[in-house]
Amino acid sequence: MADLLLHRPRSLEEACAALARYEGEARAIAGGTALVLMLRQGLVAPPALVRLDGIPGLDTIVEENGVLRLGALAPLSAVAASPVVRAHVPVLADACALVGNVRVRNAATIGGNLCEADYASDPPGVLVALDARVRVQGTAGTRELPVAELVRDFYETVLAPDELVTEVRIPLPAPADGVYLKYVTRSAEDRPCVGVTALVRRAPDGRLGEARVVVGAVADRPLRLPEAEALARGAEPSEELFRAVGAAYSEVVEPVSDARGSAAYRQQMVAVFVRRALRAAVAGQRGSQRV
Ligand SMILES: Cc1cc2nc3c(=O)[nH]c(=O)nc-3n(C[C@H](O)[C@H](O)[C@H](O)COP(=O)(O)OP(=O)(O)OC[C@H]3O[C@@H](n4cnc5c(N)ncnc54)[C@H](O)[C@@H]3O)c2cc1C
Repeated sequence: MADLLLHRPRSLEEACAALARYEGEARAIAGGTALVLMLRQGLVAPPALVRLDGIPGLDTIVEENGVLRLGALAPLSAVAASPVVRAHVPVLADACALVGNVRVRNAATIGGNLCEADYASDPPGVLVALDARVRVQGTAGTRELPVAELVRDFYETVLAPDELVTEVRIPLPAPADGVYLKYVTRSAEDRPCVGVTALVRRAPDGRLGEARVVVGAVADRPLRLPEAEALARGAEPSEELFRAVGAAYSEVVEPVSDARGSAAYRQQMVAVFVRRALRAAVAGQRGSQRV
């Protein structure tokens, strides 16, 4: 760490140009909660860090023209406490409130959480269920992509070396009813063993107009199965249906084994928590719970 150069750009253009100069060797740093640990443990040894905290306006949270926009540098505690996030997507506000502990949430940013690409994270799965997109800026210009396509593999995103996530965009209105269940197997502050988001819209006749289900924290990236969601569309909500959707996810998922649970255990828990999350969403519950 002794020879680490620190850049503090004042604009996104400067930040991208600084990253481009190092041809993929430098790292952006936002809240530093993940990156500083990686540096200390010698897992990464970049020649330079490009700080993002001097760039104005990157932490804004605003609702505009039917889109909820979260600046990439918004701390998770700000997302959790934001009245506009709470009003439109309480499930996301609550999921951010369940991350780690208050010191982590005050420093960790929503953009950093996504770009760390750690499979055992809470917000990414919720954002995939919300059909969220990220806005990305590089030296060649800007682009937008679904959060579901941001992660390529474990700890790896599709971003080019000079690209930064600048904003998370959530289309509104999101389904009103829905929950995120964070199943933890060790301490309350731990990352999830399994995290399931279920969001539903009820049709006027009481059937399910739409059901979105995302399983997180079990494989390289959040898993959403359109064919399993289709089982629920237009169906009468029932325990049998919730069980069938849970079984469909459990069959397809290829879970990791780690200290929070073996692959075989996770496979079973996916079926259990998809069923429970759907049941809670259909009952009109809103928000997130640690279970
Ligand atoms: C004790 C502890 C407990 C935790 N518990 C949980 C938990 O329960 N659930 C959970 O989801 N997470 C948990 N985390 C992880 C935490 O949420 C992440 O460390 C944090 O969100 C990363 O954000 P950051 O701003 O600190 O990123 P940084 O550490 O600054 O960066 C992380 C990575 O993302 C890159 N990066 C950052 N911002 C951008 C950007 N805008 N564009 C492109 N690349 C970028 C960096 O180059 C780096 O590679 C925990 C972390 C700790 C330390």
